[in-house]
Amino acid sequence: MQFISDVFHRNLNLNQVIKMTPSGIVSIHNGTAVHLDPKKGTENGITFVSHAHIDHLHRQNGGLVLTSRQTSEIAKIRGYTIENYCEKYENFSLIDAGHILGAKGLLFGDGVFYTGDISIRGRAFMEGAKVPKCKTLITECTFGMPEYVFPKIDDTVKRVNEIISDSYSRGRPVILLGYELGKAQILSYLFSHWQPYYHDSVKKVNDVYRNFGIVLPDSLGHSEAESSGLLNKKPWLMIAPNLSGKNAFVQNMKSKYGAITIGFSGWAQSSRFAFARQHDYSIPLSDHCDYNELLQLVKVCSPEKIYTVHGFVEEFASDLVKLGYDAQPLVENALDGYF
Ligand SMILES: [Zn+2]
Ligand SMILES: [Zn+2]
Repeated sequence: MQFISDVFHRNLNLNQVIKMTPSGIVSIHNGTAVHLDPKKGTENGITFVSHAHIDHLHRQNGGLVLTSRQTSEIAKIRGYTIENYCEKYENFSLIDAGHILGAKGLLFGDGVFYTGDISIRGRAFMEGAKVPKCKTLITECTFGMPEYVFPKIDDTVKRVNEIISDSYSRGRPVILLGYELGKAQILSYLFSHWQPYYHDSVKKVNDVYRNFGIVLPDSLGHSEAESSGLLNKKPWLMIAPNLSGKNAFVQNMKSKYGAITIGFSGWAQSSRFAFARQHDYSIPLSDHCDYNELLQLVKVCSPEKIYTVHGFVEEFASDLVKLGYDAQPLVENALDGYF
């Protein structure tokens, strides 16, 4: 039973605890609380903000924030100011997570590694994460089910280029839709040879990426392209955020210009996911590890203890146990983890 070993560890390491609280994951190290992507701002201890996706950003109430410069800049254009942040503090190190620009995992000096959102697969200008060996791994498992294994990026690009060519031969514009921060920049890069227009919200993020040295061609935002009549010169390509097929903008582009829409998401191959069904095509493309990559990540980290957070926590932990790992989901009210 897990309980006995937990009691044992409790006696050994009273000061080192990992637990899930109503405001998120807290890891206590020698008396200092480290809040990992907390759900709300915290006043004491250290807060780690892994990246600038909205589910990870919150109003800060003070205290020290560990995050990257890129995350702090992107947070700013999304209306969040991260004050008093640093990229290096005592024996904490930020590790590139390969998820979006500036996304990091956190490695504690005493051997705990928290992944944040992570991808070990390189794609376009993003390099895959190079994960460290660790004693205790706290890993996300958004796609921690065997049905989520993504196609190779080259095959995806080839297929999308074929769809665009085919649509162009019929004079029809194409809109590629993906999350405006992260996915849309990968799409802007992979399909830059079609000289796409950008949806205004995508253009804003692309500008920030370009300021950090990512080679994304500059282009007109959709408002400017439309008001200057350029959208009447068909066909054209546009990169847009992950809007639903029912969204007024998408409906307008379809009825006015006959645009074809392609939705991109890791969930695209799942019938459970509505976004994929609302577009003419849906293509699996993710900024997270797929199932096999999660297993690979665990293997490289070779931890003694694994906590799963975010996603299929029960399913993935149980698969890891079957493979011989000591793994469990980190959930509220469960016995705290001691290491
Ligand atoms: Zn994310
Ligand atoms: Zn996330």
